Amino acid sequence: MRLSEFLARWPHLRPIYEVLEPFLPTTDIRVYPLGEAARMGYPVGATTLACAVPPDKLFFRHFPPDELTFAHELIHLCRKPPELESIDEEVWGYNLASIVAWMAKEGLMGRNPFKLFQLSEEQVNSVLRELGLSSIEDYYRHVGVIPWSHEEVLGPSWPPKLVRKYGWAECLIAFISELGAGLPYFALNKAILARLLERYC
Ligand SMILES: [Zn+2]
Repeated sequence: MRLSEFLARWPHLRPIYEVLEPFLPTTDIRVYPLGEAARMGYPVGATTLACAVPPDKLFFRHFPPDELTFAHELIHLCRKPPELESIDEEVWGYNLASIVAWMAKEGLMGRNPFKLFQLSEEQVNSVLRELGLSSIEDYYRHVGVIPWSHEEVLGPSWPPKLVRKYGWAECLIAFISELGAGLPYFALNKAILARLLERYC
């Protein structure tokens, strides 16, 4: 069926579409039951829940799909910033789905969530400072997380230091994915993301 028909049938998914609409290559998107994907010759595993075939095809096992699955597959169809072409496609799907679903609930339209992966360290720090934190390391200490981009080093002074294993681009991916993963639990994550999106995206 056409995406417009799909959204008319399940209007609770429409705000997710509205967040991502400016980045979709076409408005003429078709939605199919997952069985059709195998019939069209696309690889589908026994545990596949859904898949997206750019530029215009979405396949779902369940109708309606849950919000995160719908956001994830629609993200796959979106045009990404050309400077960020090297980022793996699933980095977008997994990390942005929860953020996009939250933006839809909050009515945060007209923002570009893909730009979250282009923020400078100074932009991130300026928002963290407003919320009483000095750096991403300070944030991780506050929420009690050691992300994959860092390691904990025990020195002569307490507490142990969080040391970066990668450059800013990788640390930013880890930070944005942490913010997204903790969205349901941490008011702080919502405040940081809302400010980053409103100010820089
Ligand atoms: Zn995916």
